[in-house]
Amino acid sequence: MSESRPSHFPPGTPVGEHYTVEGLVRLAEGRMFYLVTDARPDKPMRKCWECGEIGTPRSEKACRSCGAAFKDRRFLMSARWESALFEAYEAYFAKGLSHPGLASPLDVFRQAEQLLSIVAYNGEGLMIDEASPLPNQRILDVAQRIAGTLAFLHVNGVRLRALTRANLLISPDNTIRLFDMDVVDAGDVAVTNGLRGAEMVSVGELLRRYCDVDSDVLAEFMETAENGSFEAPSQFGRAAEQRYETAAAAVYRPLRGAMSDVGLTRQGNEDNWGWKKLSERAQLFVVADGMGGHDSGEVASMIAVQTICRVARANEENVAGIEQVEAALDNAFQTANNAIKEHAEEKGTDMGTTLVCTLLFEGRTAFVANVGDSRCYMVRDNKLIQVSKDHSLVAKMVEKGRITAEEARNHPHSNILLRTVGTERDVDIDIFRVDALPGDRFLMCTDGLWGEVEDRDIEAIMVQYPDPRIAARELVRAAHHGGGKDNVSLVIMTVP
Ligand code: CA
Repeated sequence: MSESRPSHFPPGTPVGEHYTVEGLVRLAEGRMFYLVTDARPDKPMRKCWECGEIGTPRSEKACRSCGAAFKDRRFLMSARWESALFEAYEAYFAKGLSHPGLASPLDVFRQAEQLLSIVAYNGEGLMIDEASPLPNQRILDVAQRIAGTLAFLHVNGVRLRALTRANLLISPDNTIRLFDMDVVDAGDVAVTNGLRGAEMVSVGELLRRYCDVDSDVLAEFMETAENGSFEAPSQFGRAAEQRYETAAAAVYRPLRGAMSDVGLTRQGNEDNWGWKKLSERAQLFVVADGMGGHDSGEVASMIAVQTICRVARANEENVAGIEQVEAALDNAFQTANNAIKEHAEEKGTDMGTTLVCTLLFEGRTAFVANVGDSRCYMVRDNKLIQVSKDHSLVAKMVEKGRITAEEARNHPHSNILLRTVGTERDVDIDIFRVDALPGDRFLMCTDGLWGEVEDRDIEAIMVQYPDPRIAARELVRAAHHGGGKDNVSLVIMTVP
């Protein structure tokens, strides 16, 4: 996304013909979400939302045409600014499509070089606020819901560039509806065969992130979608339905939580996270914070997470015992390093990433490995302990006693890293071996968390919320309260 995030509309800003901004409620990649009301003191007439009549004076209590009593209404408004997609979304709106899986816009208009889209608001939630993992049954329900809705859109000539979490609205009855999608085409003829599978790649990626680490069967199913194996939403929907028997009944203890959030000022999200069941005895949990011009930071962190998960899984078969885990991890880091470096050279650009991971082996040994300043903490006996060491200039200055830890937080060079993945031929990694106890929790996070929230506050939240999904959400919220200047991503893993 090259166009930068515009400044937001302050509360009280009139938007469109009928609305006033109540407040900005949330930011996502390429989106801003507001609550708006239909209060418009500057307009003599008011619109009736029952019949559409717009000629009733504001002083009257009921619609002049249908007699419905006026009441104050609230709406959810989405604002976006990638202008290349404006026209296609307007064409989609003009079709006036209605389907149970769609939160159809009531109004779409342009203002301040943004495309604003209004939907009814009845206490809906946003999928971007849902931490991973979700129960298998829920994931399969959402998969079917999305498949049915995309199939409907295709019949009506509507095609999306991709589906993201920011396009999913959660109704109070917990059903999912699509809204404010990145429509690329809204034509008169049904989407043709060759194009009907395109969105399924993004749907697979979207839903894989909600699969628990133990749910490798469902995660692998989503990976097949991600790899482009489905030619149409209906085919994916049927395959998901077949998974009900095998996967829907599985229920996992609340041992894990993960979330990645764009924050309050950044345009895109360059962080990535992942987890992978390597075998019956080993699981891997990863967080990465990418850097580089244009979109290359998010590419670097994505390559890092994907590569380390894939290679660690492949290496796992050759790990005969615990003494070989470190070498296998080192190899996985090197492979990720080379993959990013090669990609960067191919693209003629610079990119790199931090990488921190915890490999839990046989449920009792945690191998923590890192490069850069994304951190791993452990919570044991209600105490937060930093396990990894930052490879940053300020961390080195603190180590040498030149500045205090407090001064490091606000140091002008706090973002200078001494080591990253993907920038040199070889990468030097640190590995810490921890004898894990049942109930220990490991928190991997980017500097968007620890830079905004002090360790004692991270500790307080971790202690207060033993459920990792809730803790993940609260930590993201705390990062916002701290300023939200950076992307924030975190993974929490509890030792069973
Ligand atoms: Ca960061």
